[in-house]
Amino acid sequence: MKNRGILTVVSGFSGSGKGTIMKELMAKYADTYALSISATTRAPRPGEVHGKEYFFVTKEEFESMIEQEELIEYAQYVNNYYGTPRNYVFEQLENGKDVILEIEIQGALKVKEKYPDTVLMFVSPPSAEELKKRLEGRGTEDAATIASRLSRAWEEAQGVENYDYFVINDVLEECVEEVHAIIQNEHARAFRNQELIDDIKNELKEFSKGE
Ligand code: 5GP
Repeated sequence: MKNRGILTVVSGFSGSGKGTIMKELMAKYADTYALSISATTRAPRPGEVHGKEYFFVTKEEFESMIEQEELIEYAQYVNNYYGTPRNYVFEQLENGKDVILEIEIQGALKVKEKYPDTVLMFVSPPSAEELKKRLEGRGTEDAATIASRLSRAWEEAQGVENYDYFVINDVLEECVEEVHAIIQNEHARAFRNQELIDDIKNELKEFSKGE
């Protein structure tokens, strides 16, 4: 029997580079991970494809997904809805894939509350100054959107202590390896191996009877 995968939620300020880290992780360890694709009501950015970065849906479609309980969690972020479709996540976990949700903090905390064995990881740039530079350098958003993303970052910073891990994204490749190591080490946590522990205990009990 394949072991069940681990659910990891990765959050980080908009501009933290978490999207790039996830892409690298998927490219390098394609057999290990599955990245959940969220539904959103925000408009696609240039180059974004429906079904790849997001499922781009209307507000009405999103609200119907909420009603049908198709989402594990959802949240509003800078005037748009974002949510995680349920089926894909559980299928992949059952298949033994480590599933990653790249979602903001409200959603992350909701997932942890529902599924306490979830790993919460927060990715941050090395400094606030660097974050501002990265957001401005992206060139895909206007000044007002950048300002609201920065003020949202300030809000999110208040909740970072609730995460299990805090990872600095300075050198991309190093950060990818750190994220990979953290998730793979999680497989060795005793509470994730209860079945195996029980089996070994039972066998030992039998052996010790024979003495
Ligand atoms: P962006 O518009 O930059 O792609 O994403 C904005 C924020 O929404 C990011 O912090 C991203 O992680 C978050 N996000 C993306 N998908 C989901 C989701 O399914 N649920 C929640 N709660 N947040 C999401």
